[in-house]
Amino acid sequence: MRIFGPTSFRTRLLIGMMVPVFVIQCFSLAHELLDHKEFFLQALEDECALVLRFASEALARPMWDYDSRQIQSIALSMITEGHTAQVLIFDSSGSLTYTQQAAGYSPAPDDLRNSHDITYSIGDKTHVLGRVQIALPMSAIAAPLQAALWQHLMVSAFVLTLIASTVYWVLSRLSLPMAELSKTMIDLRNDRFEGEVPGIERNDEIGMLAQALSQLRDNKIEVAELRAESDKPPRREHKRILRALQSTRDGVLLADETGEVVLCNPNAEVFFGNAKTGRRLNFRSWLDPEQAQQAETHVLRNENFAFEAQVAHSLSGVVLNLLVRGGPIRDERGVYLGTMLLASDHSDQARQAEKVRFLAEHDSLTGLPNRRLMEQTLAKWLLEEGEQVSILLADLDHFKLINDTLGHPAGDALLQVVAHKFEACATSDVQAARLGGDEFAILVKGAGSLERLSNIAERLVAEMSMPQEINGHVLHSGMSAGIATLSGPEAKPTEGIRCADLALYEAKRAGRGTVEIFHEDLETEIKRKSLLERELRQALDAGEIRPVFQMQTDLKTGDIMGFETLARWHHRQLGTISPAEFIPIAEDSGLIRELTYQIMTQAFQTAAKWYDMGFRGRVAVNLSPKLFGTQVDEFVNDCLFETNCPASAVEAEITETVVLASGQSALREIQALQELGITVALDDFGMGYSSLSYLQKFPVDKIKVDAAFVSKLPESGETRAIVSAIADLGHALGMRVTGEGAETDAHRQLLKACKVDYLQGYFDGPPLAERAATARLFPTLSAHRQMPR
Ligand code: C2E
Ligand code: CA
Ligand code: CA
Repeated sequence: MRIFGPTSFRTRLLIGMMVPVFVIQCFSLAHELLDHKEFFLQALEDECALVLRFASEALARPMWDYDSRQIQSIALSMITEGHTAQVLIFDSSGSLTYTQQAAGYSPAPDDLRNSHDITYSIGDKTHVLGRVQIALPMSAIAAPLQAALWQHLMVSAFVLTLIASTVYWVLSRLSLPMAELSKTMIDLRNDRFEGEVPGIERNDEIGMLAQALSQLRDNKIEVAELRAESDKPPRREHKRILRALQSTRDGVLLADETGEVVLCNPNAEVFFGNAKTGRRLNFRSWLDPEQAQQAETHVLRNENFAFEAQVAHSLSGVVLNLLVRGGPIRDERGVYLGTMLLASDHSDQARQAEKVRFLAEHDSLTGLPNRRLMEQTLAKWLLEEGEQVSILLADLDHFKLINDTLGHPAGDALLQVVAHKFEACATSDVQAARLGGDEFAILVKGAGSLERLSNIAERLVAEMSMPQEINGHVLHSGMSAGIATLSGPEAKPTEGIRCADLALYEAKRAGRGTVEIFHEDLETEIKRKSLLERELRQALDAGEIRPVFQMQTDLKTGDIMGFETLARWHHRQLGTISPAEFIPIAEDSGLIRELTYQIMTQAFQTAAKWYDMGFRGRVAVNLSPKLFGTQVDEFVNDCLFETNCPASAVEAEITETVVLASGQSALREIQALQELGITVALDDFGMGYSSLSYLQKFPVDKIKVDAAFVSKLPESGETRAIVSAIADLGHALGMRVTGEGAETDAHRQLLKACKVDYLQGYFDGPPLAERAATARLFPTLSAHRQMPR
């Protein structure tokens, strides 16, 4: 665009303004010059008249006198002073008498000429002496006129320049921004929006125009942007899809109908064996041959498919768990366009699931497989054709005691030591497990599994019988184990576990620290056990369990010192069932509390009755170890209260298992019983684990030497020495000593010789029903009158 060209608005405006100004200026100049010329002419005429008057007066005397010299002098002075160029003097007759003219003067027709009479007055008479004529040339006014012209020209030029500059400046202030605004407008028209609108900062009309234009420009930009938004959706959409594909965690691959990869996002590259756009879709580079074959078949048949695959990351080699889905791409008419392959990485979930599975299948303390996994493995191994599986269940001896006395950290540490020993046995066909608490298990599969497992069990039991050093403590624990063998798919895992459990039970019953292998008789025992359990419940409901009382006599005096209450169950079909058989069943099935309650109530009623009748001995009741730890003292006290029986009339018989199994809490309960006024007897002493040193720890009132010792007294001097030692130590600790199971007089005498205090056994008589026992206690009463109830 031409801003300064001859066609520009400014140039035209400048010319348009300057021409009239120039014309006016010219007219003004001409007018001025004419004015000046007139003025100068007037001045010349005035000078002419003045000179004439002066000359006519000055020449009067010389003319009178005819003084030609004077006349000449005056004429000469007229020429030299002023503008007079010619002096002509005429006499009264009109003849030219004198001429004087300036050098170089040549008369011209436009010269200013004038004359004046020369008169001379004498008295009141005036004489005309002649006439003086002068000529002043017009050139006299040319010089000032020229000077005036120059002056005016200078002024005009200055004025014109000033006006022109002013106009130029004003127009520049106007036209330049306008030109720029025009340029901006053209840019706007051409949708070019760079830079700011010029002049927007001005607060005049141009500023207003610029602001309006700026607004227009903003609107246009907005519209252009909106249009761009709406004009370019396909491209933007495409871009968006590409971005999404790049950022998604899934692998996305598209192949065209020829099988060439046309789109492949970064994850698809690493999932699908370094797939790339332009290469052929290849399943074999990342799937195992079988899966690759299947996938190829699906693609060939244009079928949808989905499968899980373990695939190595093409860069890191890390194995990924992928869920792969694929299928044909078709257009709206169903024409096949290619294949799409999607894969999502489930490795995290798989790892998480694996972790969860591990936690669900393993014991958190030892890391060994738990019961659930052991059972699963057992079921799996049994299903494997022709497999024989042997199961070992093991149980730590006295674990509860260790836990209670040394604390759970010591118990946990022991479990970890055991777990370590078990884990060391594990191979591909040997699995070790912790089932909970202090129970462990081992499974062995394959031919000869029983023999192998027996060896493992013997070794473990032997190892565990050794003192274990744990957390600075030397622990004597021990372990019992039961083994059962199953074979074939028909075999039931639960049955195998049950049999092994039974063998374990038997091992414990047989004296702990042993390994028992399941045999058929155990099976029969189990069946009988479950039958008895059912029957026992009914018997308790029917009140069929009755107490009998076996007397205890003083070995020195033969006086009846007390009675032991023993439970009796006479079953209609099964006949009399021994407490040695049903008490353990009651203990295992949770019926022992009810059973004890029933026997104890009847025993205390009898004791109260005998007390009322004057008997001051005690009636003893057996308290199962299972009752300890459940505030057995309160249980007994409630029963005393209910039966209104004095505590001094009863005794509690406990076994050392009570303390071994329940620890400190049991000792507190024993003391609580004693505080009630009940004496406590330690039953079956000498059996199991009891040692003489234990006596110090048991705060009991009486020791009952086990029948096994008593029966051996006659033939075993060693036994006699032991029984004597027990008696001596008991007495030293302020305890009384009873010999159990004395059947013969020899037993009686030997017990007496060993300084045992009391005797209980068939020698004195078998356990008797209440009526018979009362008759023994009060023989005179029974002979003469009816027994009180
Ligand atoms: P125990 O407490 O050692 O009871 C003594 C056992 O020896 C009784 O067997 C008794 O009949 C038997 N006996 C007594 N004198 C002789 C004898 O001279 N020779 C032989 N060989 N045995 C004799 P019983 O009544 O069969 O009881 C067996 C075990 O059952 C008891 O042993 C006791 O541990 C338990 N028991 C019995 N009744 C109860 C009860 O009410 N509660 C609890 N918790 N246990 C009981
Ligand atoms: Ca007893
Ligand atoms: Ca006993």
